[in-house]
Amino acid sequence: MVLAGAPTLGRSAISGAEALSYVLTRPLEIPVAGKSVAQLEDTFDEGRDGGRVHRALDILAPRGTPVLAADSGRILRVKSNTLGGNTIYATDPQGRIVYYYAHLDAYQKGVVDGLVVARGDTLGYVGTTGNAPKDTPHLHFQVMRMPPDGKYWDGEAINPYPLFLLLHAPARNDSLVEGTR
Ligand SMILES: [Zn+2]
Repeated sequence: MVLAGAPTLGRSAISGAEALSYVLTRPLEIPVAGKSVAQLEDTFDEGRDGGRVHRALDILAPRGTPVLAADSGRILRVKSNTLGGNTIYATDPQGRIVYYYAHLDAYQKGVVDGLVVARGDTLGYVGTTGNAPKDTPHLHFQVMRMPPDGKYWDGEAINPYPLFLLLHAPARNDSLVEGTR
């Protein structure tokens, strides 16, 4: 994933490796209410229509399930587009990472561009807007590095699945305790 000879970066931009080490310090919430890490599937490398690679996680949940802010930070853009339907771009408190939420059935009232959010805040509701199959409501969730040119919709994607495993898997001590019962 990390390219040798990375191009010169803008003042605030960080490299892919830096983005990865930074995002590892963010205590990311699983962005769909009530979902445990065991219920997640790694769909990051799956193929999609038109030869695209997914580069995101699809988190299945009933229509209307609250979509939660994975991280504290700020809303960059609340906008609809053809593929994503109702979408939200957000960033962490330092503006280094971009979080993209798509296929929302509806937005939470008051969620607008520039809003400061806390991790776990409700941003909207799971749905099938955009190109999602109508019988498969899910959140399309993507984590990206904020690119040097600030084009937040076009940053290099980071797979959040291993991050959720690291953050939300039962602690080793817990499983040892379980094993002794
Ligand atoms: Zn998706």
